[in-house]
Amino acid sequence: MDKNIDVIAIDGPAASGKSTVARLVAEKLGYLYLDTGCMYRAVTLAALQAGIDVADETAVTQLTQQIDIEVLPAQDEADGRHYTTLLNGRDVTWELRLPEVDANVSQVASYKGVREELVRRQRAYGRRGHVVMVGRDIGTVVMPDAPLKLYVTASPEERARRRWLDRQKQGFSDDYDTILADVIRRDQIDSNRQHSPLRPADDAIIMDTTERSVAEIVAEIVAMAQVGVR
Ligand code: C5P
Repeated sequence: MDKNIDVIAIDGPAASGKSTVARLVAEKLGYLYLDTGCMYRAVTLAALQAGIDVADETAVTQLTQQIDIEVLPAQDEADGRHYTTLLNGRDVTWELRLPEVDANVSQVASYKGVREELVRRQRAYGRRGHVVMVGRDIGTVVMPDAPLKLYVTASPEERARRRWLDRQKQGFSDDYDTILADVIRRDQIDSNRQHSPLRPADDAIIMDTTERSVAEIVAEIVAMAQVGVR
């Protein structure tokens, strides 16, 4: 096989471990890691900060067209970040993880106009190649021609447990049941929305990470990518 694995598309539900896996795969291959969730989060934060009602689809869509979002590799910040997100030039990397953003992002991401605008920007990153792109609709909509597509998942309880551990490490004290409820609620909205619902692409490889280590999954994906570039 001589197909050049230049773009790797990784989709999956909230807290499935897809971002961790994608970041490590990107590091091993020397590719850019692009977490598209941060872009939907940036729109949500911008709306909340501007006092825009997130239920107002027209206003949120207009706002999306006006804001500048930049995703940059982390530099020397010693705060555990894996990349930096700038919203209109301001570093909002950590604000994007606020509970208010978690609570509202799936509604914002359900709007057609918001998705069209962000997909357009995501494809621009994809066209540059050498990228591992993560989200909910990368294999189905953003980069349907990606030569390697993965759908990373795990049980809701396992995903909530992992998110809870991450939040503890980051110094947040949210309780497990609230996180589990949020994971299930977001899965439902993301899977049932009209535009680009969360689902594996027909040609995606499904990876259930429930009983498996991150290292094992990463090695498997890197091997698949390397078979492709041989
Ligand atoms: O991946 P993360 O949890 O940061 O994504 C936040 C939310 O953004 C998701 O729950 C989903 O509603 C939305 N999203 C999306 N399409 C993507 C990435 C994220 O709809 N490609």
